[in-house]
Order: sequence, then structure tokens, then C-alpha cells
Amino acid sequence: MGIGSDLRRVVRGRVLVAGDEGFEGARTPWNVAVEQRVSAVVEVADAADVAAVVEYAAKVGVAVTVQGTGHGASAAADGTVLVQTGGLADIAVDAGARTARVGAGVRWGALSERTAPYGLAGAVGSSPVVGVTGYTLGGGLGWFARSRGFAANAVRAAEVVLADGTRMRVTAESDPELFWALRGGGGDFAVVTGLEFELFETGPLYGGRMLWDAERAAEVFAAFREATAEADERLSIWVTLVRFPPFPQVPEPLRGRIMIAVDVVGAEGITGPLHRFEAIPGVVLDNRRPLEVTELGGICMEPTAPSPARVRAELLTDFSPHVTDVLLGTAMAGAADAPGPERSIAPLALVQVRQLGGALYRPRADAGAAGGIREPYLLSMLGPAPTPDHAAAVAERQRSITAALHSHVSGRKPLTYLDAGDSAAQAFSPDTLTRLRSIKRRYNEQGTVRSSFPFAI
Ligand SMILES: Cc1cc2nc3c(=O)[nH]c(=O)nc-3n(C[C@H](O)[C@H](O)[C@H](O)COP(=O)(O)OP(=O)(O)OC[C@H]3O[C@@H](n4cnc5c(N)ncnc54)[C@H](O)[C@@H]3O)c2cc1C
Repeated sequence: MGIGSDLRRVVRGRVLVAGDEGFEGARTPWNVAVEQRVSAVVEVADAADVAAVVEYAAKVGVAVTVQGTGHGASAAADGTVLVQTGGLADIAVDAGARTARVGAGVRWGALSERTAPYGLAGAVGSSPVVGVTGYTLGGGLGWFARSRGFAANAVRAAEVVLADGTRMRVTAESDPELFWALRGGGGDFAVVTGLEFELFETGPLYGGRMLWDAERAAEVFAAFREATAEADERLSIWVTLVRFPPFPQVPEPLRGRIMIAVDVVGAEGITGPLHRFEAIPGVVLDNRRPLEVTELGGICMEPTAPSPARVRAELLTDFSPHVTDVLLGTAMAGAADAPGPERSIAPLALVQVRQLGGALYRPRADAGAAGGIREPYLLSMLGPAPTPDHAAAVAERQRSITAALHSHVSGRKPLTYLDAGDSAAQAFSPDTLTRLRSIKRRYNEQGTVRSSFPFAI
């Protein structure tokens, strides 16, 4: 008798506990830098399995954590029963109504494959292997955020299992408070088994990546400042210092080099501000072209295989020449990597600034807990963390960059960008936080459903 045999009695999906073959792999999230010491893993077969696990957990007094992919894993899973939703992979697209219904395990790449034939898209972000549900529950900032707002804004209904195991469909009419919380407040209120949301017509899209050697970074940052000052909100421009690893699978001209990338997606015909980048000499790669929705997840060349990483994000209050100088000075303070330029972003691998603004700045009245973002830029700093020493070095560089920018960061962070050591309280205003806590008290007071960044109540 034990938790494994108890769970096997009530679910159809696979149950794994310590000692079972496959347990070590199953408990390891996509971000393999995060150790999850879970008491069991349940690969649920359907929503009834989810309800059975939660009902059992509530009865015996353990918590349940839920993951589609493990991209947003944190130490919060320790001691819990980890519900993996990869089996809830159904997708239904209603092209006429411009809506989609996805199971909780669907990833962005799979959804885009289904919407693209109709010229439709959801609020896809930079990676095709991130889960639609975790991303959307946390708000979700993607390529269309400046014109459409958070992914969470588009949600019309959520099928959930409440903390006592009850299944229900939550809409603005059925339960306005829980519906509000689910749209940006994360997974701390109920387990979602399916999401319904609006899609939108993209029209012809244009975009891709431009790359230069990092010695051009000051010119590219200056062009970014000017281009983003005049960009239509249907144009998204992101700039990234990238340290390409010296691995054979990285194409030869990029392998081992520190470069500066400009990644863009926009409606065709509004890309005028990009001429500012075209004037910068020495471009090593420029793959801008008319784009399909299915190509949006490939632009930033992010790893799709599980990787150990630490990320730190900060919302920037401006991107003045001073910010550029400080950011470049502190981000490029690493020792030389051979071969490559004299200065490096090591131990970081990416230092990215995304323009926000537009619809994020003017949230709709029914925006949900994600609300809006007043800060015009998002800085994220990511480094590989295969060992605790690497993680410490990455965290120290993230800390020193943030400290140098202290009067230009607001201290708030989007929920989907929190990392180990962050708290959900950093993602919300005091009023929003109070409301979220009171909703958690009502629906999940015992904390039976535990998100990666649980609210203290
Ligand atoms: C390579 C990469 C690129 C990224 N790009 C972007 C980006 O462009 N924009 C952006 O906003 N974010 C981005 N992120 C962050 C990402 O959105 C978050 O990590 C998000 O939490 C991932 O969701 P997931 O379902 O894939 O991950 P998971 O780790 O599976 O889930 C994350 C958390 O969401 C909650 N959750 C997931 N599923 C459920 C469910 N069914 N019911 C209740 N709660 C649930 C849980 O609290 C869980 O711990 C990126 C992350 C990576 C690693």
C-alpha cells in the first residue's frame, strides 16, 4: 500500500513513484536545472483522471502540481503529486467562429499547425514547445502582444477541476471571479483541463532575424531605440545579445560567437522603421521574408530540447542612451570566449530586450488578472545552469546588470518570466494581489492545487 498503488486504483493514466522505471525521467521538467522531488507522477489520460488525482490528494492532504511541459518549473513541486497533462493533446479549431479549444497538454507549435491553414493564429510567443495552458494562465507575452495584449485576454472559457475534485466549465458568466483569476493569475486556483480562446486573422506576415557581430551592439541598440519609438503596434521588434554555443549543431558562421540579433514580426506594409537596421553594415544573416504562422516559433532559434537554464526578467521604465550604455557595459563584462570578440556576455547566453506598449499599455476593461503593463520594455537575461556553480555565476551576472540599471527597472515582472527565488507577488499590483489571494482563499484555501509560484494567503 502506498501513494502509487492508491493512485493506480483511481486513474487510467500511468503512475510512477520512486523506484519505478521511468520515474527519474518523468519527474524531470523541461528546464532540467530544476530538481523536482515529487512523491509521484501521474501522466493523466483524461480530465476524469485529473479529477480523481485531485480528489485523492485533497482527501489524504497532499498537494498537486500540474505541468504541460515543465518550462516554468520551480521547486514548488517538492513533495507533491505531479500531474503531467501531455496526454490532453486534443485541438479543435472553429475557423468560422475564430476560436480554438485545446487540451491542457497542447504546445504552441501544434496549435499553430492547426490554425495556419485558415490564416488564423493564437497569441504565440517565441517558442513552439512552450505549453499553451501554462503560458496563457500566466498572461503570455508573444509576438502579437503589442496589438492584441496578453494571451490571457483572449480566453473565453476554461474547463477546470477545483481543489475538491469537482469539474466545471468557467466563463465570465458562470463565475466572474475565478474566470478573472485564471486569465493571468497562474495555476494556483484550479487545475485546467481545457481552454477555449479567440483566434485572430493575421493577414500577410513579414519578419525574421538579422544578426551582426556583437561589436555592432551599440549601433543596433541605438537603431532599436529609434525604430521602436516609431513602430506601429502591429510590429514587434526584439533585440538580443546571443552567445552561440561552440557545438557542431550550430551553423559554422555563428558557432561560438557573441552576436547581436534583431527579431521582428509585423503585418506586411508597416515595416518602415526597420530601415534603421538596414543601414548598419556587417550583417551576417538576414532571413526576413513573408512568414507563415508556423514559422513564428523558429525566429529566435531557441532550443527546443530540454535545457538547464536560469532566467531573470526586469521591466524597464525606459530605453534611453544611458540605459543602453549601462546594459552593454555590464552585459558584456565577461571574459573573452575563444574564438570570438574580446568581450563576452558569458556566463549568460542571452540578454534580450522586447518592446512592449500598445495594447499592453491600454488593457481592456475585461482583461483579467494579467491587466496591463505600463513599462515600455522587457529585459530578460538567461544563462545555462548545468551545475550549481554555473547557476551561481549566472545569477551573479543577472544581479549585477539589474543593480547597474536600478533606477530604470520597476521591480515588477511578468508571471511567465518568474524564476527560482522569485515570488508571485512580484508580478502584480497590490490591489490585484489582494483580489487574487481572496479568490485563492475561496477556491483553494488548503493549497491542494499548487502552482509553480503559489500565493501566500
Ligand atoms: C524557451 C522558452 C521561451 C519562452 N518564451 C516566452 C514568451 O515568448 N512569452 C512568455 O510570456 N513566456 C515565455 N516563456 C515562459 C513560459 O511562458 C512559462 O515558463 C510558462 O509557465 C510555460 O508554460 P508551460 O505550460 O510550457 O510550462 P509548465 O512548466 O508545464 O507550466 C508552468 C506552470 O503553469 C501552471 N500550469 C501549467 N499547466 C496547468 C494546468 N493545466 N492547470 C493549472 N496550472 C497549470 C503551473 O503552475 C505550472 O507550474 C518561455 C519559456 C521558455 C523556456
